[in-house]
Amino acid sequence: MPAPLAPALAGMFDLTGKRGLVLGIANEHSIAAGCARAFAACGATLAATYLNEKSKPYVTAVTDTLPCEILLPGDVREPGMLEAVFAEITRSWGRLDFLLHAIAFAPRDDLHGRVVDCSAAGFASAMDISCHSFLRAAKLAEPLMQSGGTLLAVTFYGSERVVAHYNLMGPVKAALESSVRYAAAELGAKGIRVHAISPGPIMTRAASGIERFDELLARTSATAPENQPVTIEDVGGLAAFLVSDAAKMITGTVIPVDGGQHLLA
Ligand code: NAD
Repeated sequence: MPAPLAPALAGMFDLTGKRGLVLGIANEHSIAAGCARAFAACGATLAATYLNEKSKPYVTAVTDTLPCEILLPGDVREPGMLEAVFAEITRSWGRLDFLLHAIAFAPRDDLHGRVVDCSAAGFASAMDISCHSFLRAAKLAEPLMQSGGTLLAVTFYGSERVVAHYNLMGPVKAALESSVRYAAAELGAKGIRVHAISPGPIMTRAASGIERFDELLARTSATAPENQPVTIEDVGGLAAFLVSDAAKMITGTVIPVDGGQHLLA
């Protein structure tokens, strides 16, 4: 006798009718692009942002292939820009089901030096763009998630252990993960779930700013239990699951999608 629950269970992974905002597409190689494609493949309708006019064509190369109904500039350093994105979502959709924050930045000199040498201004800038902007986005998303929703951030294992050359981004990602846990506790009663996805190294524009990233990539693909590089499609699969109803009782986690690299001493 086939299980009568099977069709309902399959439907839990379906994102048809859900609307999500994707922050952090720089180009087709971005983790946010892999996630946006996965959300769309599961039936979601999207909104997205681009950093500036120069980056816009690389972003539209991704969003033009997707059911992306809203595309606006979204430099989180610019006062009012994030607010304008949420105002447009409120006007067009009146609600939001999920949000992906895949944004990170650290000034080059601070990123390439020792953590103990980093400047106050560099530290503040990295924290503001890579961490506090997630909390600002969460606050703006909250009133749009009256029927619940999911907020996702993207972190890295260098938050927990010292990874050579990850430097300043280590403490910044640690703060981001802690922010995820507090936001999950604060928003859980409203049915808003909050997670950090922690991918293994993937060659992207942001990653190319980390010194000797190619060595990190080669080393982790060779030593991780699954023995192969992580792709943006792998991250997209996890992201789509987390925003689906199938994950409705999971919140406040940091989930590695790294082929098991985090297991190793
Ligand atoms: P990416 O360069 O494709 O994306 C980084 C994004 O940050 C870009 O879209 C860029 O425009 C955006 N950004 C930077 N400053 C901004 C600002 N002021 N306002 C708005 N957006 C801004 O690189 P990625 O690797 O896809 O990075 C996405 C996320 O994944 C980041 O949080 C990164 O730390 C994280 N991550 C990356 C890896 C990796 O190996 N690539 C691993 C773990 C976590």
